[in-house]
Amino acid sequence: MTLKLFNTQGRTLGEFRPIKKGEVGLYSCGPTVYWYQHIGNLRTYIFNDILKRVLTYDGFKVKHVMNVTDVGHLTSDADEGEDKMEKAAAKEGKKAEDIANFYLSVFREDFKKLNITEPTVWCKATEHIKEQIELIQKLEKKGFTYKTEDGIYFDTSKFEDYGKLALLNIEGLESGKRIDAGEKKNKTDFALWKFSNKDEKRQQEWKSPWGTGFPGWHIECSAMSSKYLGEQFDIHTGGEDHIPVHHTNEIAQSECAFGKKPWVKYWLHGAFLTFKGDKISKSKGGLYTISELEKLGYEPLAYRYLCLLTHYRKPLDFSLESLDAARTAYDRLKAKIIDMKKDEFSRKTPTEFKQQFMRAIDEDLNMPKAIGILWDVLNDDLLGNKQKLELCYDFDKVFGLGLKDVKEEKVDVPKEVKELVDKRNEAKKKKDFALADKLRNEIKAKGYGLLDSKEGTKVKKI
Ligand code: AMP
Ligand code: ZN
Repeated sequence: MTLKLFNTQGRTLGEFRPIKKGEVGLYSCGPTVYWYQHIGNLRTYIFNDILKRVLTYDGFKVKHVMNVTDVGHLTSDADEGEDKMEKAAAKEGKKAEDIANFYLSVFREDFKKLNITEPTVWCKATEHIKEQIELIQKLEKKGFTYKTEDGIYFDTSKFEDYGKLALLNIEGLESGKRIDAGEKKNKTDFALWKFSNKDEKRQQEWKSPWGTGFPGWHIECSAMSSKYLGEQFDIHTGGEDHIPVHHTNEIAQSECAFGKKPWVKYWLHGAFLTFKGDKISKSKGGLYTISELEKLGYEPLAYRYLCLLTHYRKPLDFSLESLDAARTAYDRLKAKIIDMKKDEFSRKTPTEFKQQFMRAIDEDLNMPKAIGILWDVLNDDLLGNKQKLELCYDFDKVFGLGLKDVKEEKVDVPKEVKELVDKRNEAKKKKDFALADKLRNEIKAKGYGLLDSKEGTKVKKI
């Protein structure tokens, strides 16, 4: 079977062929660690994780590198405004380094809660200043840079493929250049190194051949990916918002510095999590974090399950109602696994389902389809529980829903809730569904959820 992936570069779905047989170099743009990552950000990391799990399932050895932006990301992606880390440090009255370490540790906790596998290498921008300076020097020697009053800039007019990834209309952009290009030669030029402002003392600044300052946001990804994956590698991922600026600039500086075309063979981008159709972004005040969802009584893996129900290239509009529905389905799935564990028996061979599953995941990571196949397995009348469980555990190498570890929870149900459950069962028997629904809501208001199955109604704390 061949794995097909959708490449943003060229907008085509094609067979994945790594540079080195059997091995994959994968780089993912990581978090800017000045605040908590919200569930929108985490959708992108779940997508990265699914990609990595599918590659591993298909037998590739994956080296995954993720950067941590702890300097240089300005409040505007266009090299203007304050440094997000410095701003957060001033606001919280702490050292920028402590802020970075704190939010990175929360982020890694979120990874654990969501069953996201850690990258092979984490790399911080502030720990790779030397590599970034060397890369800028390389670009300077080749004549791609110029100096302005506030920094060293990349001259995008010298790279003829500029904007190819994003299908940018450079001429259209150029026409606006006089308005806000400032000292830049072209509107699309971007900072490689920024000088510290003379009137303020920055917490994070370094000496460089051009003056004291700090690296621009984009250069870290080119410098660190080449250090850990080489000057050309297989797959680069990120959220779709990175296409027009960050990734476009990464390509420009890397292809000019390393002379490899293409610098990256496959570009994969995850679509956004939206909220009532609007983009969720940290700068707008953000939405939920995983801990906040936990406080509302949702287990993190129910959110992972919700993400699996929409293909990674389609926007996912978030609501607590859709999360409720995903939680119910996930609970039902776990209850089925528990029931099957109690009665493992074998019947027909499960190969057909496995083939279907492999076809789905190799079709540009089609998780909604793969989840459908999982339910086909569970509802199949001919397979035995033993085969069903084996398939579930096998598929879960990709889903990451922790199915092997699900255990029956012992719930102490208070008497009043038990009585409501009995009343509801009575109502259902009499086909009085309006009353049954009303009772379900009363039970929910007391903090308990119900799961109806062939074996009866299970009560669960929510
Ligand atoms: P940041 O910490 O802002 O650099 O963002 C971290 C990652 O989250 C990047 O890959 C972004 O593209 C991605 N991202 C930001 N907002 C969203 C969203 N609403 N939905 C999905 N991904 C997002
Ligand atoms: Zn990046």
